[in-house]
Amino acid sequence: MKSILIIVYLFLSFYEVANAQKEAEMVKAIFDEALTDQTAYENLRYLCKNCNGRISGTKQLEKAVDFTFQVMNSMNLDRVEKQPVQVPYWERGEKEIGSIQSAKFGNKSVPVTALGMSVGTGSNGLTAEVMETRSFEELKQLGKQNISGKIVFFNEPMNPRLINTFAAYGGAVGQRTQGASEAAKYGAVGVVVRSLTTSLDDFPHTGMLSYNELVPKIPAIAISTNGANLLSDWLKNDPELKFYFRTTCEIHPNAPSFNVIGEIKGSEYPDQIITIGGHLDAWDTGEGAHDDGAGCIQSIEVLRLFKKLGIQPKRTIRAVMFMDEEISQSGGKEYAQQAELKNEKHYFALEADRGGFTPRGFGISAPDERIEKFLELRSYFEPYGITQFTTGGGGADIGPLRMFGTVLSSFVPDMQRYFDYHHSPNDTFEQVNFRELQMGSAAMASLIYLVDVLDL
Ligand SMILES: [Zn+2]
Repeated sequence: MKSILIIVYLFLSFYEVANAQKEAEMVKAIFDEALTDQTAYENLRYLCKNCNGRISGTKQLEKAVDFTFQVMNSMNLDRVEKQPVQVPYWERGEKEIGSIQSAKFGNKSVPVTALGMSVGTGSNGLTAEVMETRSFEELKQLGKQNISGKIVFFNEPMNPRLINTFAAYGGAVGQRTQGASEAAKYGAVGVVVRSLTTSLDDFPHTGMLSYNELVPKIPAIAISTNGANLLSDWLKNDPELKFYFRTTCEIHPNAPSFNVIGEIKGSEYPDQIITIGGHLDAWDTGEGAHDDGAGCIQSIEVLRLFKKLGIQPKRTIRAVMFMDEEISQSGGKEYAQQAELKNEKHYFALEADRGGFTPRGFGISAPDERIEKFLELRSYFEPYGITQFTTGGGGADIGPLRMFGTVLSSFVPDMQRYFDYHHSPNDTFEQVNFRELQMGSAAMASLIYLVDVLDL
């Protein structure tokens, strides 16, 4: 009896080892194919060069919808769909102007950009004295007597000591999202925010603000980091200097748009869905290459790799180009709402929205027993230098799937350069490296393959 058990045990472990080898070979085949095929890179080039400026509500974004639909439609997938969704429509208007006007040092124009959803200054622009601050606490202490009638200049830099640049961003982003309304509470007439990047350059970085409906809406812009340093320096020696800026932004009624979805039907569990996605909209001042053209194109590339290598998934694999992540995440919410209406089972979701850089690993949010198995996947990725498998994953677009108990994961590429490009005119196709992009595509495809084949 004992010897039979040993034989059965040996047989099972041989079987496991043989299978693990088969899976490792498939992972190798995925990387080989990704690193020797230009399709994804050329798709990203097209998206960046022909659909640049694709913020919600724009024609450029509808071009991106049509392009990604056509790409997936030509891939012999089982289903390609445009899922309707209503999106906000904010228009930047004319090119913004900003300048420092100092009786001591003269006038100096500086690179500025309106913050998303900001009201405009009107065609005459706005001129006022400037009050610099680093925090809402400081703002409160300055109070109405120091702020009323002035432009508040939020100059808190991203903390360069933090290795996790997303944490540094998170620590400073409040001045961009809430600064205008916080300053308006004390009678400020406008807001200038230091760009959220750790690099010192001349690119202003835009991004969303949200107004508190209880206080007046005042116009807000971002200033480049070099511009912010100059303004701060001049203020030290000339506190009476004035800042001028002019923006003509407008908010229009919501506009119709789409999530774009392509899928390969599962062979064993077609009603269990694995979603991979990025967001198709991007800030209008750049090409949206890293944020988030890369994540979209990599998601499509996962499907191409499966088709090319003849991987027939057990579960249904969907690539989703989510709409409107940057302003109101209406695409992600609509996707989850439709899933609920159709009673879909969402098994696993992976979001790629951290740029097309060298992959470092994945983050995951799941019940403990599934997390343990997930963390063990690391061994398949070690040969490719991808070793950071951590708890805590998800993203703005797949987040709403949490209500179904879906396992949520995020693709984590290297994060040191992301904020050099994020939301700025510097986020162009040229900043994306072919190998980095495709190492990421291969890592994502491998993860999805393993999650599906190992029933993780
Ligand atoms: Zn993004």
